[in-house]
Amino acid sequence: MGEFEPVIGLEVHVQMATRTKCFCSCRVEYGAEPNTNVCPVCLALPGSLPVLNKKALEYAVKASLALNCKVHQLSVFARKNYFYPDLPKGYQISQYDKPLATDGYIDIKVEGKTERVRIHRLHMEEDAGKTIHEGGYSYVDLNRAGTPLMEIVSEPDIRSAVGARLYLEKLRNIMRYIGVSDADMEKGQLRCDVNISLRPKGEEKFGTKVEIKNINSFRFVQKAIEYEIERQAKILRKGGEIVQETRLFDEKTGKTFTMRSKEEAHDYRYFPDPDLIPVRITSDYIQKIKNSLPELPDEKEKRYVEQFKLTEYDAEVLVADKERADYFEKVVKIYPENPKSIANWIINELLGKLNEEGLDINKSPVKPEHIAQIVQLIDSGAISSKIAKQVFDEVFKTGKEPKQIVEEKGLKQVSDEGEIRKIVEEVLSNHPEEVKRYREGNTKLMGFFVGQVMKATKGKANPKLVNKILSELLNG
Ligand code: ADP
Ligand code: MG
Ligand code: ZN
Repeated sequence: MGEFEPVIGLEVHVQMATRTKCFCSCRVEYGAEPNTNVCPVCLALPGSLPVLNKKALEYAVKASLALNCKVHQLSVFARKNYFYPDLPKGYQISQYDKPLATDGYIDIKVEGKTERVRIHRLHMEEDAGKTIHEGGYSYVDLNRAGTPLMEIVSEPDIRSAVGARLYLEKLRNIMRYIGVSDADMEKGQLRCDVNISLRPKGEEKFGTKVEIKNINSFRFVQKAIEYEIERQAKILRKGGEIVQETRLFDEKTGKTFTMRSKEEAHDYRYFPDPDLIPVRITSDYIQKIKNSLPELPDEKEKRYVEQFKLTEYDAEVLVADKERADYFEKVVKIYPENPKSIANWIINELLGKLNEEGLDINKSPVKPEHIAQIVQLIDSGAISSKIAKQVFDEVFKTGKEPKQIVEEKGLKQVSDEGEIRKIVEEVLSNHPEEVKRYREGNTKLMGFFVGQVMKATKGKANPKLVNKILSELLNG
């Protein structure tokens, strides 16, 4: 790449987690028997009329505010006309020149540096149905038709494949924080089209862009962009020109390929939908929703750094997922003495283990009260941090209380001076050669002696006392 800078803008569709569809009272249900959640409105039977779902509007306003957008008191639904078998009306209800919200932003952290990605607009629209091609036939399932969506269009502010992925992940996290969508890419609740062009480094003017449609995982978004950057760079290096077109990403080959050229682009003949009155909301309504917003990831991160003295990195990892942040706060509430150590246990031990087992944090066999107990046991000197790892693994396996495990397995740290002194004396008398060399100046052997004492006590001796007694007996 080197000589070129990528310019990337994302168009993201988010399915709203309303109970019913956007313009009728059919249920929104993932994985239902085909064509069971349908009615005259979403089947486009003559004479039926759409009515806007208030909850969908509320969710879209909520999302707009969480994305720092300006929410407009007047927005208008428009018809986007095209033909496809899974679109029974022959048009999609969307918003065009008067969208619900504009001018927002999401901040992302790329390699430790905060970058702002501006959001051009957020509008409401309805989803289409699904066409399934199977055994030489095509089947239409209209359960999804009329599901409320938000389309969120970024400005072309993203400058790397990783940046695009981080933006998308943050967008998903915010949607989950405010509870308007599960935003699960695998279930198609979050869908992303990528627009990408290259320009020579230092150049202001944008190059010709290519749009990559329907990429269905975070990893593939990054991969598709990485591939596309290389493809475009190769053409530009040879003095060629980028063709403006829509491409698709092939997950098997990791390559993008042409879907349609600019000439084949649709003219959607947008016009205001006469069946729906313009959407008017008051500033009071907007303010009320604003007041209902929960603490969002950025604010939470800042608070963790200030209140709990966590590093920015630790705070960022914890707030990346709402459930993870809730878990952390539960532990801190039970044992407020040592948030830093609690964060370490969650990030370094728990998350890795959950990941290995493919478990969500709310399904963790290690509960918040367990982590609180483990950290407390370490802080009080009852167990060493080394033993604590053993205890943690056991809790993860059995779900038993840490205290009980320590009791049953006799893992309590030995802090009895007399007892440790006896063991130290034994170790020293068993290793006269090493003692001699230590006293001749080879002080590195201290580690060896500590190791021997730990071995003799199965790691249970209080390390501070071991060190103290060893230096007494060796140097005294
Ligand atoms: P279109 O009319 O082709 O849909 P828009 O101007 O609406 O184009 O932009 C669609 C998306 O493409 C937006 O996310 C925008 O940020 C992005 N975009 C626009 N121009 C470029 C460009 N030259 N390179 C990369 N992305 C771009
Ligand atoms: Mg577009
Ligand atoms: Zn319906």
